[in-house]
Amino acid sequence: MSQVIIVQSLDTIEKMKNHYKNYLKPTVPPGAIFAAKLPTCSITAYKSKKVLFQGGSYEKEASLWEENSSIKKQTISTSLPSDISHLSIIGTDEVGKGDFFGPLTVVAAYVKKEQIPLLKEIGVCDSKNLTDTKIIEIAKQIKEIIPFSLLILPNEKYNEIQQKGYTQGKITAILHNQAINHLLKKISPSKPEAILIDEFAKKEIYYNHLRNEKNIVKENVYFSTKAEGIHLAVAAASILARYAFIQKFDELAKKAGFPLTKGAGQKVDEQCARLIISKGEEVLPYFVKLHFANTEKAKRIVQRKNR
Ligand code: MN
Repeated sequence: MSQVIIVQSLDTIEKMKNHYKNYLKPTVPPGAIFAAKLPTCSITAYKSKKVLFQGGSYEKEASLWEENSSIKKQTISTSLPSDISHLSIIGTDEVGKGDFFGPLTVVAAYVKKEQIPLLKEIGVCDSKNLTDTKIIEIAKQIKEIIPFSLLILPNEKYNEIQQKGYTQGKITAILHNQAINHLLKKISPSKPEAILIDEFAKKEIYYNHLRNEKNIVKENVYFSTKAEGIHLAVAAASILARYAFIQKFDELAKKAGFPLTKGAGQKVDEQCARLIISKGEEVLPYFVKLHFANTEKAKRIVQRKNR
């Protein structure tokens, strides 16, 4: 999406907030002072004094304030290098964000250009087109060939951080950055020609999430939706993340004592209710992402059954 960021004093940001008072959104993203949705564009002002204009007439709207801007505007390039599919790159992807049961799992994988044909041969492709059985089969082969970094955040830990006020987006961003850092160390002194993140948040939001982190990787980092289809490194990362997720998920089902379902549909409400009845509510932080609406739905099922 087309966007521009300008930096403003907090005073000007207050003026802006007042100027857009009829368009303010009821809630603001973490770290933001205000968010406004105009008919022609969206505006988000952050405590870091950055103001993001997105979509439609973003440039025109931003230009109203630019005279006062303390630094020159920086237009974010969202375009990828045209030859990115053929470069040696680190790709990152995550699994488990939308799953009530099972850990959030992030992988960064490094694929050198010479390895691309071999990975194709093994069957690496968009993991959404692969069955779990196929994913396991491919993952077992590629984990011996390519360097990667795998981070698994068990729900117990996830809930703890989430309750401290970290959004899922922020948690995911921190894990991606960590995985990239680990992998850069692992492959050093070689260096990737680019880093491609399967886009779960816009670049600016991603870096805003990371603002308090150490070692923020920014050099040659690109974002794209459906990045699995752009470079096999992302596809490989996705397969390795899903492989780890499946294993952890199966372990969790063993602990539950009955099969669990992926995703966050109605079935998981029933399964969570069954867990509460058989093991007590206090085990939930270990099994589920507590902030999902499923938790309350499951509790209501239990209440109905107890009536
Ligand atoms: Mn993804």
